[in-house]
Amino acid sequence: MTKTIFEKIILREIPANIHYEDDEVIVIDDINPTAPIHLLIIPKKKIETLNDLAEGDTKLVGKLFQVAKNMASKFGIDKSGYRAIFNCNEDGGQTVYHIHLHLVGGRSFSWPPG
Ligand code: AMP
Repeated sequence: MTKTIFEKIILREIPANIHYEDDEVIVIDDINPTAPIHLLIIPKKKIETLNDLAEGDTKLVGKLFQVAKNMASKFGIDKSGYRAIFNCNEDGGQTVYHIHLHLVGGRSFSWPPG
């Protein structure tokens, strides 16, 4: 099966700016940032979309949010605020089919989203 861009980053086959890594998760800068801070919190386990989450993935998804919280603090956007977003499938704007949590901050965002 072809590797996703994130699998290639995890395997160091292509470069990325890595801010955090452990056995389960890697955090990188988004290559096309939409805000002053735009990080991607990516599980090393490939799960294609949120629709593919299994019961056993609950802890892993919770961990992605814990890492997001820690990154928000590290990048100094915890007090000003931020968004943590999963896009799912076409209408959700998903382009890489390996789930990832976007952490965006450093500016204010409107609601509802476009
Ligand atoms: P999504 O559209 O929710 O699937 O998000 C995919 C994100 O991955 C987009 O924001 C892209 O800018 C980002 N992206 C694509 N290729 C790379 C890459 N090589 N390194 C870092 N981020 C990437």
